[in-house]
Amino acid sequence: MTRHRGWRNLLCLLAASACFYGESISSLKYNTDLAQTPQGRPPSVVLVTLDTVRADRIACYGYRQIETPSIDQLAREGIRFEQAYAQVPLTLPSHVVILTGTYPMFNGVRDLTSTGLPATVPTLAEILRQNGYRTAAFVSSFVLNSMWGLARGFELYDDQTDRDTLNKSPSLLERRGDRTMTRALSWLDSRPDGPFFLWVHLYDPHSPYHPAEPYLSRYTGHLYDGEIAFDDAQLGRLFADLRRLKIYDDTVIVVTADHGESLGEHGEAEHGFFIYNATLRVPLILKTPGSTLASRVVTDPVSLVDLAPAIAELSRISPDSTRSFQGHSLSRMYSRQGEHSTATVYAESYYPRNSFGWHELRAAITPQFKYIGAPRPELYELKKDPEEKNNLAVSQSSVAAALRDTLEMLKGRYENVSVSQSAAMLDSETLEKLKSLGYLGYRAPAASGDSPLGRADPKDKILVFNQVLRTRDLRSLNRFAEADEILTALKRSEPALYIVAFERGENLLTWGKPKAAAEEFRKAVALNPLFDQAWLGLGRAALVLADNREAGDALRVALRLNPHNYLARRQLARVYWREGRSKEAESELAKVARERPDFAEGRAEHGISLAKLGRYHEALAELSAALALGYCDAIVYNYTGMAYAETGDGEQAVKAYEKAVQLDPHDAVAYLNLALQYRKRGELAKAREYYKKTCDRSVELCRQYSSQF
Ligand SMILES: [Zn+2]
Repeated sequence: MTRHRGWRNLLCLLAASACFYGESISSLKYNTDLAQTPQGRPPSVVLVTLDTVRADRIACYGYRQIETPSIDQLAREGIRFEQAYAQVPLTLPSHVVILTGTYPMFNGVRDLTSTGLPATVPTLAEILRQNGYRTAAFVSSFVLNSMWGLARGFELYDDQTDRDTLNKSPSLLERRGDRTMTRALSWLDSRPDGPFFLWVHLYDPHSPYHPAEPYLSRYTGHLYDGEIAFDDAQLGRLFADLRRLKIYDDTVIVVTADHGESLGEHGEAEHGFFIYNATLRVPLILKTPGSTLASRVVTDPVSLVDLAPAIAELSRISPDSTRSFQGHSLSRMYSRQGEHSTATVYAESYYPRNSFGWHELRAAITPQFKYIGAPRPELYELKKDPEEKNNLAVSQSSVAAALRDTLEMLKGRYENVSVSQSAAMLDSETLEKLKSLGYLGYRAPAASGDSPLGRADPKDKILVFNQVLRTRDLRSLNRFAEADEILTALKRSEPALYIVAFERGENLLTWGKPKAAAEEFRKAVALNPLFDQAWLGLGRAALVLADNREAGDALRVALRLNPHNYLARRQLARVYWREGRSKEAESELAKVARERPDFAEGRAEHGISLAKLGRYHEALAELSAALALGYCDAIVYNYTGMAYAETGDGEQAVKAYEKAVQLDPHDAVAYLNLALQYRKRGELAKAREYYKKTCDRSVELCRQYSSQF
């Protein structure tokens, strides 16, 4: 209802807004001496990144249907950047830009197929830490888990989610903002001495939109806004705490977002695919120590890549330590009083290219124009056409050509040829988690010669992209027939798109049609032979069809392509069990446990395989690890009991079996094991009682053991 209104009304709303602060300037004199605290030591820094927040959905940016008092208050006390842009509209790449001050073509983290930040790229946290800062980060999404490399330089990197839920259900791949903030505030309360760098990331406005009360009721019909309002309240808690601790005034505070949300504009529902301002333009507010710069509004375009240099400068870090930064410090940009900035903002999305094989999108943004490089280039005059609807690329072809050259110049200046832009693949669990957060991290095959010629324009493919996402939603709702109908139609229009065959295979397999699924997976691997997930799918389908040979072959290919694909390894262990190759099965499961020691189910399976081989001491260690990781399962307790019994600890064995029957009252084997333990101890009445319970549950076990009771 309101989603298209923001941009159109932005300028007029600004004039009327309650937080129009009067002093709007395009350039300001910026004095870094202001960064000095009264005590003369470098100031502490608090950086808050709000995930998925459009600038034009915040009250002080002119939006009237929301209350964001905390952000508005900060804007009154600091500098509000009217035109701040993300470099990539995706969470991890954008945060890498913010926290390294480097462009994606330099740091190599361009989309969801990346395996993380290369160790060669220094981080802001590292630099601050080396300069005596105490550092802590509190993040709220798996997408920023320490495995992606952003933890470097943080003494504390809190990315916790509940382990049990992590392994079993994707729902807790994020942490609600109030919980993240509570942990950050508790760190603040007992923080170590000295200046600190605190980064807090709040994920709530990311889809699905379901804010906590009272925001759910208050924002019915525009729940996305409700999530932003909820996070604003968390900021309120943070600012109140900083004041209570009497450090608010002397602290550098930055609030921004990693990207926006398209909310249907240009046909895009969320973010990542296109690079229109709906997903690129973000709020950016910077409060420096002291109040000289209060209520300033900067209207020239700035980038998130400029943030790390700005923070380092305010923290009085020597330029020698920040040579890796590619952004311009915000202060340097605005030191020319009365002049407009001439810097060009760069942005990109390689998501259409890397996951689908379509063309990448790159943009150059100046105060007046925005150029998007694509097979059909786009040029927009932002002030007149903030919604980017009127493409001037043909009518103003010389402007377009100049900005196209600028894009090439930026590429030449910032690209890092030594950082691998392709290579490694993500493991299955990571891909599953990304998928459950609405992302698709699969890698398309390289086109022959990798020539940009012939790659489709993403503008022509947004419906295909949306339909692929739609079939995933349908599958998660068990609406397999509807999903299949869409995928069958897509197959006709996109015969070369490997994802369509792959998704149809996944849908058919979940639907219980393994034969047809195997057929689709074979097509997917023919289109993209390096796609290990499709080989895994084929292996799973073949296992269901009891075709051990094809299953084994497919799974071994998946593992050759990606040795980290431990879900493929688990399936291969299953093939070995079926073939009676129990030692090989155990060996594969041992590798799974080594690869992912925090994967509870994998540890349990390995423990069971060891118990089956009679290696009870080792089994106990693995089964205990699985239980400690929260894997609460009757079978695991049963095998734990067995391992205790076989290693001579009858007491612990009984406890484990009792836990097993408590978790699964139908578990006849556990009851029988209890009966046998009590018989061994000479407690015959109890033994018979449990034997009777075994008989109530299994005629076969009852008959088999009748002579012993
Ligand atoms: Zn994000």
